[in-house]
Amino acid sequence: MNDCLFCKIVKGEIPSTKIYEDETVYVFEDIAPTAPVHYLVIPKEHISKLDEINETNSAVISHIYEVIAKIAKDKGLKDGFRVVSNCGESAGQSVFHIHFHLLAGRPLTWPAG
Ligand code: AMP
Repeated sequence: MNDCLFCKIVKGEIPSTKIYEDETVYVFEDIAPTAPVHYLVIPKEHISKLDEINETNSAVISHIYEVIAKIAKDKGLKDGFRVVSNCGESAGQSVFHIHFHLLAGRPLTWPAG
């Protein structure tokens, strides 16, 4: 997707603070963090949102959760963390390249607003 912000971040056309990268997944710091740890975990391939996951592209989503578990271990998130993916504008999605917010470092209330 030529005009997708996160595709441009994956390609290095827009700067980001990288936390992790492999063949299919990229992880970087959120530009407006809402917790001491606030990473965005994204597939390198363009998937717009959660309801576009299907049997053809779901392997990368499965891998994303493996990556999240590895990062949680590597960063010592022993006190817990939260993973959030907003799907659609009314759920708060503002960037239409699927992403998983990884939040930690402060008490996280529930239910989320
Ligand atoms: P959402 O609102 O769930 O779609 O999440 C999009 C997230 O992307 C927000 O938390 C933004 O702060 C974050 N964001 C937007 N632009 C950038 C950027 N250039 N670099 C890093 N994070 C960004």
